[in-house]
Amino acid sequence: MTNKRVFLFHEGNASMRELLGGKGADLAEMTNAGLPVPYGFTITTASCRDYYTHLGHIPLTLIDEIKAALRVIEDKSNKRFGDPSDPLLLAIRSGAVTSMPGMMDTILNLGLTDETVEGLALVTGNRRFALECYARFIQMYGHVALDIENNAFTKVLQQVNQESKVDHIGQLAEARLEELILKYKQVVLHRTKKSIPQNVEEQLIDAVRAIFRSWSNPRAKVYRKVHKIADDQGTAVSVQEMIFGNLDETSGTGVLFTRNPSTGGNEMLGEYLPAAQGEEVVSGTRTPLGITYLMQTLPAVYEQLHEAASQLEELYGDIQDIEFTIEKGQLYILQTRNARRTAQAALKAAVDYAEEGIISKEDALLRIETEHLNQLLHQSIQIREEDEIVANGLPASPGAASGQLVFDAETAESWASLGKRVILVRRETTPQDIHGVIAAEGLLTLRGGMTSHAAVVARGMGTPCVCGCEELELREETKELLCFEHTFREGDLISIDGGTGKVYSGEIELREPEISEELTRMLDWADEVKKMKVFANSDHPKDVKLARTWGAEGIGLCRTEHMFLSPSRLPLVQRVIVAGSNQERQEALQRLLPVQQSDFEQIFIEMDGLPVTIRLLDPPLHEFLPKLEVLEGRREHLNMITLDGDTDELEKVDRVIEKVKELKESNPMLGQRGARLGIVFPEIYDMQIEAIFRAALQCIHRGIKVAPEIMIPLIGHASELSVLRKLVDGVAEQVLREELKNCPYRVGTMIEIPRAALTASQIASHADFFSFGTNDLTQMTLGYSRDDAERKFLSHYVEQKILPANPFEVLDQDGVGELIRIALEQGRSIKPDLIAGICGEHAGERDSIFFCHDIGLDYVSCSPYRVPFARIAAAQAQILSLRNAADKPAVIHISTTA
Ligand code: PEP
Ligand code: MG
Repeated sequence: MTNKRVFLFHEGNASMRELLGGKGADLAEMTNAGLPVPYGFTITTASCRDYYTHLGHIPLTLIDEIKAALRVIEDKSNKRFGDPSDPLLLAIRSGAVTSMPGMMDTILNLGLTDETVEGLALVTGNRRFALECYARFIQMYGHVALDIENNAFTKVLQQVNQESKVDHIGQLAEARLEELILKYKQVVLHRTKKSIPQNVEEQLIDAVRAIFRSWSNPRAKVYRKVHKIADDQGTAVSVQEMIFGNLDETSGTGVLFTRNPSTGGNEMLGEYLPAAQGEEVVSGTRTPLGITYLMQTLPAVYEQLHEAASQLEELYGDIQDIEFTIEKGQLYILQTRNARRTAQAALKAAVDYAEEGIISKEDALLRIETEHLNQLLHQSIQIREEDEIVANGLPASPGAASGQLVFDAETAESWASLGKRVILVRRETTPQDIHGVIAAEGLLTLRGGMTSHAAVVARGMGTPCVCGCEELELREETKELLCFEHTFREGDLISIDGGTGKVYSGEIELREPEISEELTRMLDWADEVKKMKVFANSDHPKDVKLARTWGAEGIGLCRTEHMFLSPSRLPLVQRVIVAGSNQERQEALQRLLPVQQSDFEQIFIEMDGLPVTIRLLDPPLHEFLPKLEVLEGRREHLNMITLDGDTDELEKVDRVIEKVKELKESNPMLGQRGARLGIVFPEIYDMQIEAIFRAALQCIHRGIKVAPEIMIPLIGHASELSVLRKLVDGVAEQVLREELKNCPYRVGTMIEIPRAALTASQIASHADFFSFGTNDLTQMTLGYSRDDAERKFLSHYVEQKILPANPFEVLDQDGVGELIRIALEQGRSIKPDLIAGICGEHAGERDSIFFCHDIGLDYVSCSPYRVPFARIAAAQAQILSLRNAADKPAVIHISTTA
């Protein structure tokens, strides 16, 4: 490990971002590529960290290294720092590892003193220019190094501008600039009781110290918190020879995008200001001209810029945002970084670069971020000035939606059936609201976090959803939604953006998602590369169809309870539950059977021979019955209106009330659900299994291939699975008979209870596959009830860094992941071909997908809308693991810094 703290530009390269910061690494790379970069050096991020460890002390050894590097700049520029006749001037800038644009400070024109300013005047033949530079230096130095608030200087400048009847400093005459400098010096003296240093080395060391200090200014701290950048990284400092774009009309400054950052189109876009410094373009004090102006006035420089731009694109293989300055017809590149661009531009550029041979297909795949696909695959809001944000919640399910406000699932469904577009608002949703959720364009809840029921369901269906919008007040009795001064009533128009969590009043213009040619190309490349299969969690034929369109290679989780919740089926399910006798229950089940069968048939047809994993009923039965309060309300109402002798309806309600009380559990999550339900009430599972095999038989008769996989939820003990497997095999034989051999079905289990994971070798002897239900496995491993944890403490835990992330969103690899690893190892130790995948929410999250790939799972199964992303993430996992194995750099570094 070297103790070198200062690197001349030619001593670094693009892979040294950790040490030199993004800017320092890129300046080094550009220097070595022969681009015209003003020469300089970079002080490492490690020096900044030391500065903090040593309580603001800059060691003499560092000062010596800085001085030695300075001598090299002097030699290269043929100027001396502090030389009264022709001074070398410096630009001092910050440069963190991760881009933090505008968060830290810069000092330009460093090296000017009362003496050297006259030297600059002499060599440039422009005293006005030299004085302007000096004034700008005092202001920047005073603010950044001496901590004087900027306002103190701007007030003085405004006053002098006003008196001189000019708009900006560039228009002040020499005498006025002298006056300005004097006044600036007085500000410094008055505020610090010291004069502006006339020793240039003192200026330099103070400036370096000030840039280190700017790492912890309040705006930088807030930025890091928002962007999850570690506080202990520190910033590097780059020191470069100053170049002046404001010398004369053959000088200027500008910004250039190597491709169109909105569309990704292969065209250079840029702005240019003649006779100006960079700040003027950024601050908007002067309106820049198009880059064509440069082409017309300085064609040779334009040509050189064009070439430099192509060279930089090839070097970084990405759209570059380049800052350049021209001094007396000589081009200098001051900075390059990856351009901020739309998702569409990022995708198009990555595909184009790969096809142009600038980057490999693998690198193009590694470019795709979750955020890109979120933007590309969902409707988005086209914001106009008049659009009004009325509240902010959590961005729970991406996409945007506008519609009429409704307060309950029934209204949502009936209005939607009339062709109305509705937004369903609930305090929180329960599985009972599913028909409303299906019918609604968007979902808005007042409570619940990113993995609350509403969020999970909405994401699963690709319905935009804003959750946990606690600023709102819901008055269910009057059907009003209050939000500060707004009161929304049923039927009012409202819009939500599930990608940002924002709620808007009225209707908002929406943009349809586009499956561009580029996305199709990228997904094809992903499929060529990836090893893991990507399945979808879908339970409606419509969603299954969509899942296939997105490239799902199977259905990894069909939650049959979702099929029970539609208004035409719920009464049948309720009749099964409240049946007074066996016969009554059998009758109700027989009516439910064809409905289930028809659903399965449609799903098999859509999937045409690909695996379809159907999970038998999982939730506790009380979830299918109305809430006790609702039933008691109904009973009261009936009591009031029922005439003597007409008590049928009352009796029915009483029966349901009794059943609800009987089924009540103090902790339903750990109660009678999943396999436990199937063992105690085998007739329900029996009907479901029969429906699956009857559907399979129908398909076989029609010449459609089927591959049913029957999955038993919530197994904790091998003997539970043994009993239920026998049930499945028995029904299969009964229904399929001679077609048994034509229907290669599998029976497997969810692994979602820690005990199941720890005894997986016993369980595997009854299972053909394992599917890790990481939603429940996370709850049970951490002992967190998902909704309570998200509502009460998880955000605090993440904020206080007690947990690195919400474990319901990003798999807890050390705990839950370890259980998966153990289960997989045990399972495959007795069944080497055991198929294993994951079907919890984590299956659509990048880091979790990488983990699944690394431990050797066969598939991930996520919501249909996440399928394209999961295909790309699975490919990325494979590329990275191959590169790591070959010990190549895992990711070609792409992004640059502030
Ligand atoms: C799980 O627990 O991860 C799972 C997929 O099942 P559910 O979310 O339906 O409980
Ligand atoms: Mg589960």
